[in-house]
Amino acid sequence: MTVQALFARSQTMASFSGIAAFDEPMSRHTTFNIGGPADLYLKPDTGCFVSYTAALLGLARTEAVPVFILGGGANLLVADEGIRGVVLDTGSWTGASIESEGGSLPLAPASASASIAYAFAPSFATPSPKDAVPGSAPKTPSLNSYYPFPIIHYQFPRREEPVHVGFRSGTPTDDAVRWVADNGISGLEDFAGLPGTIGGAVWMNARCYERSISCLLVETTFLDEHLKPVTAPTDLAAFAYKKSPFQGRNIVILEAVFSLPLGDPALIAEKTAARRAEREAKGHFRYPSAGSIFKNNRDFGKPAGKIIEELGLRGLQIGGAQIAPWHGNFIINTGGATANDVQRLITLTEEKAFQTFGFKLEREIIHVG
Ligand SMILES: Cc1cc2nc3c(=O)[nH]c(=O)nc-3n(C[C@H](O)[C@H](O)[C@H](O)COP(=O)(O)OP(=O)(O)OC[C@H]3O[C@@H](n4cnc5c(N)ncnc54)[C@H](O)[C@@H]3O)c2cc1C
Repeated sequence: MTVQALFARSQTMASFSGIAAFDEPMSRHTTFNIGGPADLYLKPDTGCFVSYTAALLGLARTEAVPVFILGGGANLLVADEGIRGVVLDTGSWTGASIESEGGSLPLAPASASASIAYAFAPSFATPSPKDAVPGSAPKTPSLNSYYPFPIIHYQFPRREEPVHVGFRSGTPTDDAVRWVADNGISGLEDFAGLPGTIGGAVWMNARCYERSISCLLVETTFLDEHLKPVTAPTDLAAFAYKKSPFQGRNIVILEAVFSLPLGDPALIAEKTAARRAEREAKGHFRYPSAGSIFKNNRDFGKPAGKIIEELGLRGLQIGGAQIAPWHGNFIINTGGATANDVQRLITLTEEKAFQTFGFKLEREIIHVG
């Protein structure tokens, strides 16, 4: 079945509103700004997200059409040839909820703190060119003057700690961090400035400052292999460094609930701002990239970036891709880089690390297409 026929048929099974585009360049949807066309790119609106996703996945499975679930595209290297089948963007499925037990702690009004300036990568910025798909409606302003996502229920958290805060999977992680910070809720500060979405962070078990997101995760709701929404409590034994039980499964994460202590709003704000500033100072946002290319294997006794630095590979350039001169584990798109350029740098680094130190570097980045 063609993707055109699949899309037409899917709409007879569940209503769709949102963005749909054929042959959509994935370079618009990755923080690397790299990637060829997806046969069909779909970004269902919040209102139809779950029902349409379930219908689409069921049909696609029957028709053997692959579907790739896209978060913020912050950990992806999409092939120059693009992605066959469907890319389903979770980016409209946003929102936050707070467990309410009739407490009386009011949520603070949103502050107007500035977002990180992703000057280099327009696909990060809000509103994003992700939403500027030809023929699509422009992104509508959020319900809230500041948060780019609606609050599912805006109620009072219970007085006792910790509070349980849930985020829909398409919520940008940095927005989630800012939202809890603005409400005097602590715990997520270390994830400030992390590119991507909550769904991607949980799927990847993102780790910042020696802290994996699984440590704060209470439960996850996902569409399981039978396309039923399932809420599963966190089994910490199923998570490990950059590993989650969702990897290797055919599921869609819908919501993640975190257990977070209340804290001093001023201190939380200070720490979040410091974490964002540290990322900026480390050059994370100077050029398009997908963050660290390789995992940090503790058995090597040093971070992957240090190994790459010792190999003398910093600054090495192939085509438009370059090993960041300031960070051995980052490959940057200096302009016009192809996935092939990046792939060649990765392979070369792996070979050199093995020849020189006997280390088999393990990729963190996910290859798609
Ligand atoms: C500048 C920069 C700095 C970074 N720093 C860090 C860091 O400090 N620590 C760190 O851990 N990572 C870091 N990263 C990598 C990246 O931010 C994380 O891996 C992030 O969690 C990816 O989220 P995403 O939404 O972009 O996922 P994507 O890249 O879109 O997808 C990643 C994987 O998750 C799957 N996925 C995404 N959403 C869902 C969903 N709802 N349901 C099912 N599957 C889903 C996708 O199919 C894919 O397999 C960095 C990246 C950049 C660009």
